[in-house]
Amino acid sequence: MSETIFGKIVAGEIPAKIVYEDDDVMAFHDVAPQAPTHVLVIPKKPLRSVLDAGEDDVLLLGKLMYAATHVARLLDLADAGFRIVTNIGSDGGQSVDYLHLHVLGGRHMGWPPG
Ligand code: AMP
Repeated sequence: MSETIFGKIVAGEIPAKIVYEDDDVMAFHDVAPQAPTHVLVIPKKPLRSVLDAGEDDVLLLGKLMYAATHVARLLDLADAGFRIVTNIGSDGGQSVDYLHLHVLGGRHMGWPPG
């Protein structure tokens, strides 16, 4: 997984527009934004998706979600509302095999998603 694009971002091997970082997580702007604000939040520990998380990762998953809300506040999405989503596997529409939360905001989100 460290060979994936997000693994390389964590390693500092390729650049990203980072909006938040701590010991456990990183958040950076998506290169192909699907909303006026579109940020990806990833764990520094390489996991393929939430399916790859074990009992040892429960705290990390909480930190990931908490960081997503922190980013939403930081980028002024909290009042109007926003969406957090994670795609899993082929039917889920996952294209990068490294766990990430999408934080999308700045426009009204439709439901159901495509
Ligand atoms: P998913 O389809 O859920 O796996 O989401 C992968 C996301 O990663 C897509 O929204 C891509 O636009 C985004 N992405 C791919 N490469 C990069 C990159 N180098 N920096 C930031 N976002 C990226």
